[in-house]
Amino acid sequence: DDRIARISSTIRVIPDFPKPGIMFQDITTMLLDPVAFKDSIDLFVERYKDKDISVVAGVEARGFIFGPPIALAIGAKFVPMRKPNKLPGISFLPLTSVTFFQFNNSSHRIICYVMSCHVISGAVISEEYSLEYGSDIMEMHVGAVEAGERTLVIDDLIATGGTLVAAINLLERVGANVVECACVIELPDLKGRDRLGDKPLFVLISST
Ligand code: 5GP
Repeated sequence: DDRIARISSTIRVIPDFPKPGIMFQDITTMLLDPVAFKDSIDLFVERYKDKDISVVAGVEARGFIFGPPIALAIGAKFVPMRKPNKLPGISFLPLTSVTFFQFNNSSHRIICYVMSCHVISGAVISEEYSLEYGSDIMEMHVGAVEAGERTLVIDDLIATGGTLVAAINLLERVGANVVECACVIELPDLKGRDRLGDKPLFVLISST
């Protein structure tokens, strides 16, 4: 596909960013080329338009560039997966950490937890994860995705896979059916794909 070659040629590599030894794949130069940028969106849309996907979940920050045009084109909603303390609402601890419901029967505890998530508007859940350089926390709104919704996760790049795993975990905690992850670029040497287990990954470019 000629479009892949054009997209590839617009990506700039910045050595030693954000720290020595990292060869940073900069997609902002692709955004300066409207043909390449549109080609990238078109390739994703062609793949996902007939897959009955109702949620496109984009990972902050560069998943916010690619996710919304794909979501609009395939008629899905866009859900932002955000950095910590950005989403308005009340934070919830992971289910395993919930100790404030004093029920002996764990199924009661789970029911109370699920009910409270739905009742309190703006409830936010968090997931901590490790990065190629450092660690971070990702958050999403509980009410944004209904249980069983077919969901695509989108980001610009997969390196170690930690970011996509965090996004999948958050979405699955609210019952989403994550059907695939998609990125513009994969760094295959870091084997991030392996960390996704049986979750399919679609990429436009593999960069060694
Ligand atoms: P991972 O969690 O797979 O190790 O790292 C992927 C995340 O870090 C993505 O959200 C991606 O935006 C960011 N990232 C890591 N390395 C690069 C890079 O070389 N270029 C870009 N554009 N993003 C990167």
